Amino acid sequence: MFKLPNLPYTKTALAPLFNEEQMTYHYDKHHKAYIDNLNKFMETDSSLKGKSLEEITLTSSGGVFNNAAQAWNHTFYWLGISPTGQGEAPSQNLMAAITRDFGSLDELKAKFVDGGVKTFGSGWIWLCADTTGKLSLVSTSNAAVPFTNNGPMPILVADVWEHAYYIDYRNLRQKYLETFWAQVNWSFVSENYSSKKVRDLTKIMMS
Ligand code: MN
Repeated sequence: MFKLPNLPYTKTALAPLFNEEQMTYHYDKHHKAYIDNLNKFMETDSSLKGKSLEEITLTSSGGVFNNAAQAWNHTFYWLGISPTGQGEAPSQNLMAAITRDFGSLDELKAKFVDGGVKTFGSGWIWLCADTTGKLSLVSTSNAAVPFTNNGPMPILVADVWEHAYYIDYRNLRQKYLETFWAQVNWSFVSENYSSKKVRDLTKIMMS
Protein backbone atom coordinates (compact mmCIF):
# COMPACT_ATOMS: atom_id res chain seq x y z
CA MET A 1 0.00 0.00 0.00
CA PHE A 2 1.09 3.53 -0.68
CA LYS A 3 0.68 6.67 1.40
CA LEU A 4 0.59 10.39 0.83
CA PRO A 5 4.19 11.44 1.55
CA ASN A 6 4.87 14.23 4.02
CA LEU A 7 5.70 17.58 2.44
CA PRO A 8 9.15 18.97 3.27
CA TYR A 9 7.51 22.32 4.19
CA THR A 10 4.26 23.56 5.71
CA LYS A 11 1.31 24.35 3.46
CA THR A 12 1.67 28.07 4.19
CA ALA A 13 5.41 28.11 3.46
CA LEU A 14 5.09 28.21 -0.33
CA ALA A 15 3.59 31.70 -0.55
CA PRO A 16 3.70 33.65 -2.79
CA LEU A 17 3.75 30.69 -5.20
CA PHE A 18 0.77 29.02 -3.49
CA ASN A 19 -1.48 29.94 -0.62
CA GLU A 20 -2.77 27.43 1.91
CA GLU A 21 -6.14 26.84 0.23
CA GLN A 22 -4.49 25.92 -3.09
CA MET A 23 -2.17 23.53 -1.24
CA THR A 24 -5.00 21.98 0.75
CA TYR A 25 -7.02 21.17 -2.36
CA HIS A 26 -4.08 20.02 -4.43
CA TYR A 27 -2.20 17.97 -1.85
CA ASP A 28 -4.85 16.79 0.62
CA LYS A 29 -7.58 16.17 -1.95
CA HIS A 30 -6.20 15.66 -5.48
CA HIS A 31 -2.87 13.97 -4.67
CA LYS A 32 -4.42 11.90 -1.86
CA ALA A 33 -7.25 10.74 -4.14
CA TYR A 34 -4.78 9.28 -6.67
CA ILE A 35 -3.06 7.34 -3.87
CA ASP A 36 -6.38 6.14 -2.41
CA ASN A 37 -7.51 5.00 -5.87
CA LEU A 38 -4.21 3.19 -6.49
CA ASN A 39 -4.54 1.41 -3.13
CA LYS A 40 -8.01 0.18 -4.14
CA PHE A 41 -6.45 -1.39 -7.24
CA MET A 42 -3.69 -2.89 -5.04
CA GLU A 43 -6.34 -4.67 -2.96
CA THR A 44 -7.89 -6.41 -5.94
CA ASP A 45 -5.05 -6.82 -8.47
CA SER A 46 -2.47 -9.31 -7.18
CA SER A 47 -0.11 -8.56 -10.09
CA LEU A 48 0.68 -5.21 -8.42
CA LYS A 49 1.87 -6.75 -5.15
CA GLY A 50 5.52 -6.13 -4.28
CA LYS A 51 6.08 -3.71 -7.15
CA SER A 52 7.55 -0.26 -6.63
CA LEU A 53 5.52 2.76 -7.67
CA GLU A 54 7.98 3.27 -10.53
CA GLU A 55 7.52 -0.34 -11.71
CA ILE A 56 3.73 -0.04 -11.59
CA THR A 57 3.93 3.21 -13.56
CA LEU A 58 6.16 1.58 -16.18
CA THR A 59 4.12 -1.58 -16.62
CA SER A 60 0.45 -0.65 -16.16
CA SER A 61 -2.27 0.95 -18.25
CA GLY A 62 -5.76 2.36 -17.84
CA GLY A 63 -6.92 3.30 -14.35
CA VAL A 64 -3.96 1.70 -12.58
CA PHE A 65 -1.51 3.69 -14.71
CA ASN A 66 -3.45 6.94 -14.34
CA ASN A 67 -3.50 6.77 -10.57
CA ALA A 68 0.02 5.35 -10.11
CA ALA A 69 1.55 7.92 -12.44
CA GLN A 70 -0.38 10.78 -10.86
CA ALA A 71 0.70 9.60 -7.39
CA TRP A 72 4.34 9.63 -8.61
CA ASN A 73 4.09 12.89 -10.57
CA HIS A 74 2.70 14.87 -7.65
CA THR A 75 5.32 13.65 -5.17
CA PHE A 76 8.04 14.57 -7.68
CA TYR A 77 6.40 17.96 -8.20
CA TRP A 78 6.23 18.81 -4.47
CA LEU A 79 9.91 17.94 -4.00
CA GLY A 80 10.90 20.22 -6.88
CA ILE A 81 9.60 23.37 -5.23
CA SER A 82 10.65 25.12 -2.04
CA PRO A 83 9.82 28.07 0.21
CA THR A 84 11.10 31.42 -1.06
CA GLY A 85 14.84 31.81 -0.70
CA GLN A 86 15.53 28.15 0.09
CA GLY A 87 15.98 26.72 -3.39
CA GLU A 88 19.68 27.61 -3.78
CA ALA A 89 21.15 27.43 -7.31
CA PRO A 90 21.82 24.79 -9.98
CA SER A 91 24.97 22.72 -9.45
CA GLN A 92 27.95 23.61 -11.66
CA ASN A 93 27.38 20.56 -13.87
CA LEU A 94 23.69 21.28 -14.28
CA MET A 95 24.31 24.98 -14.99
CA ALA A 96 26.87 24.03 -17.66
CA ALA A 97 24.31 21.71 -19.29
CA ILE A 98 21.60 24.41 -19.15
CA THR A 99 23.94 26.88 -20.86
CA ARG A 100 24.97 24.30 -23.47
CA ASP A 101 21.44 23.05 -24.27
CA PHE A 102 19.33 26.20 -23.81
CA GLY A 103 21.79 29.12 -24.11
CA SER A 104 21.07 30.42 -20.60
CA LEU A 105 18.95 29.82 -17.51
CA ASP A 106 16.60 32.61 -18.62
CA GLU A 107 16.13 30.89 -21.99
CA LEU A 108 15.34 27.60 -20.26
CA LYS A 109 12.77 29.34 -18.03
CA ALA A 110 11.13 31.06 -21.01
CA LYS A 111 10.92 27.82 -23.01
CA PHE A 112 9.60 25.87 -20.01
CA VAL A 113 6.89 28.49 -19.39
CA ASP A 114 6.00 28.49 -23.10
CA GLY A 115 5.89 24.68 -23.18
CA GLY A 116 3.62 24.65 -20.15
CA VAL A 117 1.29 27.30 -21.57
CA LYS A 118 1.08 25.35 -24.86
CA THR A 119 0.35 22.00 -23.15
CA PHE A 120 -3.24 21.54 -24.30
CA GLY A 121 -5.74 20.67 -21.60
CA SER A 122 -4.42 18.81 -18.56
CA GLY A 123 -0.80 17.72 -18.32
CA TRP A 124 2.72 18.34 -17.15
CA ILE A 125 5.79 20.21 -18.41
CA TRP A 126 9.04 18.42 -17.58
CA LEU A 127 12.74 19.25 -17.67
CA CYS A 128 14.46 15.98 -18.49
CA ALA A 129 17.94 14.58 -19.02
CA ASP A 130 19.00 11.61 -21.16
CA THR A 131 21.75 9.16 -20.20
CA THR A 132 24.41 11.42 -21.75
CA GLY A 133 23.24 14.40 -19.67
CA LYS A 134 21.57 16.22 -22.54
CA LEU A 135 18.62 18.29 -21.33
CA SER A 136 15.22 18.57 -23.00
CA LEU A 137 11.72 19.81 -22.31
CA VAL A 138 8.86 17.31 -22.56
CA SER A 139 5.14 18.11 -22.42
CA THR A 140 2.87 15.22 -21.43
CA SER A 141 -0.92 14.88 -21.34
CA ASN A 142 -3.04 13.82 -18.39
CA ALA A 143 -1.03 11.38 -16.21
CA ALA A 144 1.71 10.49 -18.72
CA VAL A 145 5.36 10.48 -17.60
CA PRO A 146 8.39 11.04 -19.86
CA PHE A 147 10.34 7.93 -18.78
CA THR A 148 8.10 5.25 -20.28
CA ASN A 149 9.38 3.60 -23.51
CA ASN A 150 12.99 4.43 -22.60
CA GLY A 151 12.23 8.15 -22.62
CA PRO A 152 14.37 10.66 -20.75
CA MET A 153 14.65 10.93 -16.96
CA PRO A 154 12.71 13.78 -15.34
CA ILE A 155 14.65 16.25 -13.19
CA LEU A 156 11.92 18.91 -12.61
CA VAL A 157 8.22 19.17 -13.36
CA ALA A 158 5.37 21.68 -13.21
CA ASP A 159 1.77 20.49 -12.98
CA VAL A 160 -0.34 22.36 -15.54
CA TRP A 161 -3.69 20.75 -14.72
CA GLU A 162 -6.06 23.60 -13.87
CA HIS A 163 -6.47 22.15 -10.35
CA ALA A 164 -2.79 23.00 -9.76
CA TYR A 165 -3.21 26.76 -10.03
CA TYR A 166 -6.85 27.81 -10.40
CA ILE A 167 -7.45 28.90 -6.78
CA ASP A 168 -4.45 31.26 -6.71
CA TYR A 169 -4.10 32.20 -10.37
CA ARG A 170 -7.52 31.53 -11.97
CA ASN A 171 -6.88 31.18 -15.72
CA LEU A 172 -3.38 32.73 -15.64
CA ARG A 173 -1.28 29.63 -16.31
CA GLN A 174 1.62 31.72 -17.59
CA LYS A 175 1.77 33.80 -14.41
CA TYR A 176 1.73 30.60 -12.32
CA LEU A 177 4.60 29.11 -14.32
CA GLU A 178 6.67 32.30 -14.12
CA THR A 179 6.17 32.41 -10.34
CA PHE A 180 7.05 28.70 -10.13
CA TRP A 181 10.61 29.45 -11.28
CA ALA A 182 11.30 31.71 -8.30
CA GLN A 183 10.75 28.74 -5.97
CA VAL A 184 12.50 25.85 -7.71
CA ASN A 185 14.36 23.51 -5.34
CA TRP A 186 17.68 23.44 -7.17
CA SER A 187 19.23 20.99 -4.72
CA PHE A 188 16.58 18.42 -5.71
CA VAL A 189 16.92 19.18 -9.44
CA SER A 190 20.73 19.02 -9.32
CA GLU A 191 20.60 15.71 -7.39
CA ASN A 192 18.29 14.24 -10.03
CA TYR A 193 20.59 15.45 -12.79
CA SER A 194 23.71 13.89 -11.27
CA SER A 195 21.98 10.61 -10.37
CA LYS A 196 21.26 9.63 -14.01
CA LYS A 197 18.32 7.58 -12.70
CA VAL A 198 14.58 8.02 -12.39
CA ARG A 199 14.02 9.24 -8.82
CA ASP A 200 13.02 6.45 -6.41
CA LEU A 201 9.93 7.87 -4.71
CA THR A 202 8.61 4.50 -3.50
CA LYS A 203 10.69 4.64 -0.32
CA ILE A 204 8.88 7.76 0.92
CA MET A 205 5.45 6.56 -0.27
CA MET A 206 5.21 3.07 1.21
CA SER A 207 2.86 2.76 4.15
MN1 MN B 1 -2.12 18.08 -9.77
